[in-house]
Amino acid sequence: MVGIIFFLYGTIFGSFFNVVGLRIPVGQSIVRPRSSCPTCGHELTAKELIPVLSYVIQGGKCRQCQAGISLFYPIMELLTGLLFLVTYIHFGFSPNLIIGLTLCSLFIIITVSDLKYMIISDRVLLFFASVLFIERLIFPLTPWWSPFLGAVVGFLLLLFISVVSRGGMGRGETLSCML
Ligand SMILES: [Zn+2]
Repeated sequence: MVGIIFFLYGTIFGSFFNVVGLRIPVGQSIVRPRSSCPTCGHELTAKELIPVLSYVIQGGKCRQCQAGISLFYPIMELLTGLLFLVTYIHFGFSPNLIIGLTLCSLFIIITVSDLKYMIISDRVLLFFASVLFIERLIFPLTPWWSPFLGAVVGFLLLLFISVVSRGGMGRGETLSCML
């Protein structure tokens, strides 16, 4: 029963993560404008914003202009629902559940922008890095410094690759900014 709630909330969050992943890399606000049909500009009503269900009920089409809606949206919503469910089953009600859900959220958002633009936004990464940093301060591991050591080692490894590849890593973002 609780699992179902985690799944349903996951699909709602997934719908929001689609918006975040699609808008942040192109510098748009995540609150305005409201979501609309990319073909006819029809603003989506509450009834059309129900994760997965709206897509199924409308047969994957815009109610106004009948243009096809990408399967990408309901798939990401379902995936988020499943990830939230699995995280709950794995951790139960524990501090790690919060950390797990945070990581799933980060994973979905960067997957959306990576698939759509081949960009993983620094703003998203920095935001989640701070959230995870604070969460780990509140819920420390034993020893408390182990996650921070892991973070430093991970950073140095990526820095090493970046230096060796002479900035080849992350070039996608630099190029899109220049274009
Ligand atoms: Zn439309």
